[in-house]
Amino acid sequence: MKVTEHIESGNGKTLFSFEILPPLKGQTIQSIFDHIDPLIEFKPPFIDVTYHREEYDFHEVTSGLLRKKVVRKRPGTVGICAAIQNRYDIDAVPHILCGGFTKEDTENLLIDLGFLGIDNVVALRGDAVKSETYFKPEKEGHAYAEELVKQIVAMNNGKYLDDSLENSAHTDFCIGVAGYPEKHMEAPSMESDFHFLKKKIKNGAHYIITQMFFDNKKYFDFVDRCRKEDIDVPIIPGLKPLATKKQLNLIPHRFKVDLPDDLVMEVVRCKDDKEVRQLGVDWCIEQSKGLIAAGVPVLHYYSMGKSDNIQAVAKAVF
Ligand code: FAD
Repeated sequence: MKVTEHIESGNGKTLFSFEILPPLKGQTIQSIFDHIDPLIEFKPPFIDVTYHREEYDFHEVTSGLLRKKVVRKRPGTVGICAAIQNRYDIDAVPHILCGGFTKEDTENLLIDLGFLGIDNVVALRGDAVKSETYFKPEKEGHAYAEELVKQIVAMNNGKYLDDSLENSAHTDFCIGVAGYPEKHMEAPSMESDFHFLKKKIKNGAHYIITQMFFDNKKYFDFVDRCRKEDIDVPIIPGLKPLATKKQLNLIPHRFKVDLPDDLVMEVVRCKDDKEVRQLGVDWCIEQSKGLIAAGVPVLHYYSMGKSDNIQAVAKAVF
């Protein structure tokens, strides 16, 4: 079933969902099941699985000469999605990226997903690889998520890259895209970010999932602005419980989101990360309650490889 169908069949009730990361190469899929099992009681209608593009490592070959080696540290998104659907009978939503993919790679990936009975995707651009300052698309790839959305929609209409193909099967993907209540880090202004978000929806995306935020007002303002811009698709808020003191600096640096002063001061007063973890859960419970009261369609939690804090939040609100 599609994410938008789950939302419709929820009849106004806020649904619970979360996102998982594929394990590091070398680990088994059991680590994923161990992560999902404690969250099943909250009946997630869908689970997102992130995608991680290649990174580069440099190895010394001889006397200071370095060789560049491509490594993929978290492979397995498609396999994990198939395993989730098979084991739990819950819809899995793979994230798919422009970065590292040619259009041909994307087409083949979408064909695989269709064959596996996966009919949801989140279409993203991806970030620059660590060794590059700016995002660089593949030579035959997409530069922006709005282009990726176009390709998926074309396949939904039976149009493949090779236009000599006749009677090609129509895929049937429900497409999510990212939205940034506090602006995407590279966008020169909120205005331009809305302009391109609107383009993703105009090109055929069906819903938006937001970047994490720690102040619900940012989400409510974002939704108001979207509605003014005639973006009328569901907007799913993304939440992450703060878990360590280090994240006070790491989250703003990595995701370019602000933390409210009250939260920052409370974290500073915590004796250790155990206290921060509890504070993060309590803060996230309050955020969740406020969002449910406002009638959001789904609460989507970024688990970042840990489920105990998401379980604690879900217990208190679902
Ligand atoms: P885009 O929508 O392409 O936007 C990127 C930037 O370009 C924005 O500043 C936008 O304003 C601008 N822009 C857009 N279109 C145009 C255009 N036509 N011309 C000029 N400028 C334009 N990353 C991963 O690697 N794996 C994941 O699984 C993953 N999951 C995510 C899930 C969510 C919910 C979110 C919010 C982010 C996720 N990311 C993931 C991170 C994401 O890849 C980065 O934030 C990336 O920098 C932007 O992706 P995007 O799809 O929003 O890009």
